[in-house]
Amino acid sequence: MRRFHPSTVCKGSQAMAVPKRRTSHARQGNRRSHLHVKPIQIQYCPQCNEPVLPHRVCPNCGYYQGREVVAPEKEEK
Ligand SMILES: [Zn+2]
Repeated sequence: MRRFHPSTVCKGSQAMAVPKRRTSHARQGNRRSHLHVKPIQIQYCPQCNEPVLPHRVCPNCGYYQGREVVAPEKEEK
């Protein structure tokens, strides 16, 4: 909860809201405790055992849910 200095409370005149107290390092850290990045989930294709992202067609063999959905990309050289 943020507190504001009484002199900044708007009484007809235009006043900008200003924090009453500085944020302590502990409070700042508590607020940022949810900002970490989760590691990505990696599953392995049951068809070709390549690492794939969940809920996505395997980019290697084109399989999803046990059947071929898209044709796999062939390397043309
Ligand atoms: Zn695959």
